Amino acid sequence: MTQENCIFCKIVNREFKTDFIVETQDYVSFNDITPRAPIHALVIPKKHFASLNEIEDVELMGKLLKGAKETAAKLGVADNYRLVINTGEKAGQAVFHIHIHVLGGRSMQWPPG
Ligand code: AMP
Ligand code: ZN
Repeated sequence: MTQENCIFCKIVNREFKTDFIVETQDYVSFNDITPRAPIHALVIPKKHFASLNEIEDVELMGKLLKGAKETAAKLGVADNYRLVINTGEKAGQAVFHIHIHVLGGRSMQWPPG
């Protein structure tokens, strides 16, 4: 379940004073520590998966998307937000516990870099 030395597992286990935006038995969301937009939150499953490629549980994947939608709504950006899942280092993944970025509060460029 919990991966030793995984920063996001530690957040799930409340080893830091992280405020959760949404919490269910399956996932939590919280503000990104280095926001790249006025609204920047992360949705993560409580169970450790290194990346999207490790998850086969489609029900959990659906729940994470629902969590992202609810997080955007709670943060007041329900009408305009972007979800990002970086998978692999070259794609920008730095923390290997799957997370959905919820970005909003400004105009977004396309395509992303
Ligand atoms: P990624 O590059 O897709 O793996 O995204 C990792 C994200 O986690 C980055 O946006 C970081 O700013 C964020 N992050 C890393 N450590 C923490 C932390 N302790 N609390 C909140 N966000 C974090
Ligand atoms: Zn983890």
